[in-house]
Amino acid sequence: MSVITTFEEFNLNKQLLNAVSDLGFEHPTEIQQKCIPIILAGQEVIGIAQTGTGKTAAYLLPLLMKIKYAQGTEPRALILAPTKELTIQLAEHTKQLAKYTDLRILPIYGGIGPKTQIENIQQGVDILISTPGRFTELYLRGDIPVKQFKVLVLDEADRMMDMGFMPQLRKIFEVIPRKRQNLLFSATFPERVEKLSAEFLEFPVRVAITPQSTPAKQVEQELYHVPNIKTKINFIEYLLKNKEDLNRVMIFTRTKENAENVFRFIERKGLGPVRVIHSNKGQNSRINAVNEFKEGNLRVLVSTDVTARGIDVTKVSHVINFDVPILYEDYVHRIGRTGRAFQDGKAITFVTRAEEYHIEKIEKLIRGKILEKNLPDEVFVEKTPFEEKQAISKAIDDQKRRDDPTFKGAFHEKKDAKRIEAKKREDKARVGKQKVKKNKRDDRKRPDLNREDRKKPDKKRPR
Ligand code: AMP
Repeated sequence: MSVITTFEEFNLNKQLLNAVSDLGFEHPTEIQQKCIPIILAGQEVIGIAQTGTGKTAAYLLPLLMKIKYAQGTEPRALILAPTKELTIQLAEHTKQLAKYTDLRILPIYGGIGPKTQIENIQQGVDILISTPGRFTELYLRGDIPVKQFKVLVLDEADRMMDMGFMPQLRKIFEVIPRKRQNLLFSATFPERVEKLSAEFLEFPVRVAITPQSTPAKQVEQELYHVPNIKTKINFIEYLLKNKEDLNRVMIFTRTKENAENVFRFIERKGLGPVRVIHSNKGQNSRINAVNEFKEGNLRVLVSTDVTARGIDVTKVSHVINFDVPILYEDYVHRIGRTGRAFQDGKAITFVTRAEEYHIEKIEKLIRGKILEKNLPDEVFVEKTPFEEKQAISKAIDDQKRRDDPTFKGAFHEKKDAKRIEAKKREDKARVGKQKVKKNKRDDRKRPDLNREDRKKPDKKRPR
């Protein structure tokens, strides 16, 4: 089979070709070359491709060919995505590709009242893009007509499984018409996604454009051993001083606290403009921050993983992993933000001793080693505070125990030793007290003893 190198060869209609050309897409990406003809032929597809490969247009273009133009009021295509950010972004992408059609595209998601969304559905929709939660909620209220769905897409299926959406997905599969085309896209293909695909896809064609969980090739990956949070912050300052190279930076943290701390530091040092997004931030603030970053008005966007999922931002020069993600697939997702379609990017990961364990696992997943580099001399290495040191030791022990349940651990041993020592002291003290009491009782029985003699046993009392 000859390789398709132009969009014209897909036999897409003029409206779509014009939209593709407006977006500046010259050649189809690999996932597009492979998926578009299969989906156009009506087959079901499992697409394994990371964000940044052009996988969205790979299913949107054939989907738009099928749905073609506005018809009736009931939605005919359903795209399910894990987060509200992704639904909004998918709707934008769909609208760009459908700009020369009259198709009505609507994203719906939780976190805000459903009233406006319900009104929009009633006005008529062709393509509905939703999180599984909001879809189920509105369906159960009788606000989503489901009889006309002909295409179902699950985007970022692995994420949806991680976020526990399986029960809602099962419910949705039950209520929408059986006769439909199903498409599943996922950055990775772990067992639970395989199970999910077996449940609802019929004779799917599997299209994997890179080996499972291999990050986009263009991304240069570096790893630095950094002993503690304060030094990580110093390193951020050092890196951000290079304003020329690091012009659009996403910094990922594992916790909201770290995200806030990094954000405040960058703002205080005037290394922004910077914004932060995490689950405590309001819906509008999150959307605004992402838009500002997309439009190039921000230099740095700090985010936790959950919030960052699915955000499509192009031309990210650097991704900095302030913490190593515990969900290993998030590493692939995080660095997928850089080196997007046909662009180079760099991913820098900071690793404490407690995080080395996770790096090993991530390297297994991505089937490659991340290049280790030395912390530059200019970065001031802070002393690790006692509490952080304790937390690191405890984390290392917990990791060892996870691999070997009989492992007792240096941290716990030390703690045990301390406890044993303390108990010994207590026991001795108790024995001492008992002796004193006994002596006192004996003294009472021997009224002839003088005061000096009576004190003697006290002196010998072990401490
Ligand atoms: P995705 O992997 O779908 O998230 O797409 C990543 C980015 O690549 C998006 O910003 C798309 O607009 C862009 N893109 C998709 N297809 C192409 C293409 N054929 N040529 C250039 N850029 C593309």
